[in-house]
Amino acid sequence: MFTFDYELFLGKRSGSVQKCCIEPTSILIKIFDEFKIKNAIFFVDTTYLLRLKENNDSRSTADFIAVSNQIQELIKKGHYVFPHIHPHWLDANYLKENNQWDLYNNSRYRFSHLNELERMELFKKSVEVLQEIIIPIAPQYKIDSYRAGGWCIQPFADFMPSFEEHKIVNDFSVMRSKVNTSDIQFYDFRNAPYKNIYTFENDPLVESKNGRYKEYSISILNISSLNQFLNKLLLAVIWRLKYRSMGDGVGSVASAETAVINEKEIKEMVSMELLTDVRLPLYLKYIKKNEYMHFISHPKMLSHYNLVVFRKFLAKFTSRYEFETDYKKMLESL
Ligand SMILES: [Zn+2]
Repeated sequence: MFTFDYELFLGKRSGSVQKCCIEPTSILIKIFDEFKIKNAIFFVDTTYLLRLKENNDSRSTADFIAVSNQIQELIKKGHYVFPHIHPHWLDANYLKENNQWDLYNNSRYRFSHLNELERMELFKKSVEVLQEIIIPIAPQYKIDSYRAGGWCIQPFADFMPSFEEHKIVNDFSVMRSKVNTSDIQFYDFRNAPYKNIYTFENDPLVESKNGRYKEYSISILNISSLNQFLNKLLLAVIWRLKYRSMGDGVGSVASAETAVINEKEIKEMVSMELLTDVRLPLYLKYIKKNEYMHFISHPKMLSHYNLVVFRKFLAKFTSRYEFETDYKKMLESL
């Protein structure tokens, strides 16, 4: 399962939509075409789209159209597009001089920082803005899935009324064993079930056999300190060769993470932007041993080097295995 958070940077400078979303995503579309892969999921930062719509500047209108066109292209190619909400866009300032945004104010980083009325309203507008873009070209398309901004899906009670109202039944926010205890970006997945896909009712960390909602947990790799060390060396070389992320903004301070489980081994999400030649054998070993592998990646974070390694992964993977990339066809028992 290949999932992406389609968004700008969420700190002092957002970067441009061309560099953070449009250009890297066009490359991804080509790679997926080449390997005949469909059903990638793009969680689009709808809060950004809402700000573009209301901003009185012709460049924002042009950016909105560019994103709309790419979303329509993704849908036509057989990929999915679902909402992803970063509430602190509500407090973002437009930087007229370079057509970017300042998202330094993160006092409302989490959905839970909004009051109930604001939450219902923002979720509704988020679903509607995607429908407005998608329905004209795919009238039957159903928005039934969600990933929380910054993985902040807790407390789930804050999302339930919106999930109910908009018939959202799938969540993609849980990363087993990861934890971030800052109040700005809080999540605690240490007690998540040891399952890849499961149903739940009131809490995404508690499996409930007849629960209304389905969790598709993000895959986590155990990385040894040796692999970690070799990867650092490699990244230093890559950096000198100027293989940088394609995005051109500045990240949020909130993305810092507190999670080191023990010193010998770290837990790392399965992600295209973390994929290197040192990590590649671990990815191939993982898919050999597991029936489920859920990538979470960000177009803005990808470098051309990551894509070279991702192609190697796909070449090996697609030639060795029969696979299913459509979340709708994956079994709960996995
Ligand atoms: Zn995000």
